[in-house]
Amino acid sequence: MRVLVVEDEPRLAGLLARGLLEAGHTTDVRHNGGDGLLAATVEQYDAVVLDVMLPGLDGLTVCRKLRERGLRVPVLMLTARDAVPDRVAGLDAGADDYLSKPFSFDELLARLRALHRRTTDQADTVLQTGDLRLNPGARQVWRGDTAIELSAREFDILALLMARAGQCVTRYEILNEVWDGETDLRSNVIDVYIASVRAKVDKPFARHAITTLRGAGYRLEPDGG
Ligand code: CA
Repeated sequence: MRVLVVEDEPRLAGLLARGLLEAGHTTDVRHNGGDGLLAATVEQYDAVVLDVMLPGLDGLTVCRKLRERGLRVPVLMLTARDAVPDRVAGLDAGADDYLSKPFSFDELLARLRALHRRTTDQADTVLQTGDLRLNPGARQVWRGDTAIELSAREFDILALLMARAGQCVTRYEILNEVWDGETDLRSNVIDVYIASVRAKVDKPFARHAITTLRGAGYRLEPDGG
């Protein structure tokens, strides 16, 4: 299983990451709500372990936004003590299950396995912006009825822009999410890739969906251009 852990408390985040790895699961950790939301939107996870109390966006907001974006990744919410209102709010926000802190790691693993079983036969989710559609699971893109072939990085950039359609996505965020920070901001690699995404997604259709925001980043027009 591929699991995303969103937990700001370093000790607990470290324990979870180590435990999940030892149990054979690939694990990414994010330490605040905004980074967690971005990762869960752009990457494909089999489950998200999401703390409620997070700096920036709290866990409930992250979960609600994921569901608004049509992402059905199973979410296991970590709630404080026996805070019943937290649990109810979590389920209302679209979480699939919750665990109260402190919890046993074995129980966490069991809950994750159960969530995974429950969701494995569900259909893939598709992101849609205007007449642009993108299926993260199948890694397919269409403009209207026309399928578009993109390279892996082009695809990741478009997925990021679509997940945040109508908003500015900074060059730093693109670098972080698509290149894992492996290249640096001074290089023109992002410009090159944006140009090639435009050449495939916009140009053949006489559209201008991707706007350059000078000195800031890029924005995908919410109507798909
Ligand atoms: Ca916390």
